[in-house]
Amino acid sequence: MTSPPAAKHIYSPAMGWIRNWRRRRILREPFPEHWLEIIAEHSNFIEQMPADRLAKFRSDLQIFVHEKVFIGAQGFEITEEVRVVIGAAAVRLILYLDLSYFDRVSEILVYPGAYHHPDDRETGILGQVDDWNTVVLSWPAVVAGLRNSRDGHDTATHEFAHVLDRNSGAFNGTPVLRANEDYAEWGRVLSHYYLELRDGKTNNRPLLRDYAATNEAEFFAVATEVFFEKPRVMQRKAPDLYEELQTFFGADPASWGK
Ligand SMILES: [Zn+2]
Repeated sequence: MTSPPAAKHIYSPAMGWIRNWRRRRILREPFPEHWLEIIAEHSNFIEQMPADRLAKFRSDLQIFVHEKVFIGAQGFEITEEVRVVIGAAAVRLILYLDLSYFDRVSEILVYPGAYHHPDDRETGILGQVDDWNTVVLSWPAVVAGLRNSRDGHDTATHEFAHVLDRNSGAFNGTPVLRANEDYAEWGRVLSHYYLELRDGKTNNRPLLRDYAATNEAEFFAVATEVFFEKPRVMQRKAPDLYEELQTFFGADPASWGK
């Protein structure tokens, strides 16, 4: 009689313990202060974010940059700048959420390709169920997305929003929300705007681009870009949608940088 295969979940608490131990070790290293200068060359989001979030931002960034495997595609060279800027774009989404939302991402594959609008390069971006621990990014697209922080387009934010969504186990526009009672209102509000956009009945097109009507996952990713990049416009035009995203992210970007 052969013994049954070991159940994975038996080992997961230990894995969690090891990961936590590794993280404590990473954080024992001093934070590389020049990283903030690297980020400032690409984006003003550090000066925008609430000052009381900076400590979490720094420690999450330190862990993210150490833990994730960055791979250059087509000969692209992974530099400290690439790691730090992509890591910063990821962890700024979780200023009020736990870093564990990104635990299932192990690899970040970076292409040197010319800038493509995120809507034109969906294939290969977290596109396969088997492979969704890999995030695929175009470096020029990341840089272009960060350079203009108020145009509502940000490739890195879009792709890492997909990661937050996928962390729930499904790719359906609903990440793991804070409380069970949050799901009903989330579903009601997001469906309303999604269906309006899909059916062409909305005057919200300037707020959420058409691509958001592709499916629920794209709706959440595009809405997240707009929430962080045009928060005041969203708050004015779609206050209930803003409120749902504010409840999930815990952030109130409409009040940042004022
Ligand atoms: Zn997408």
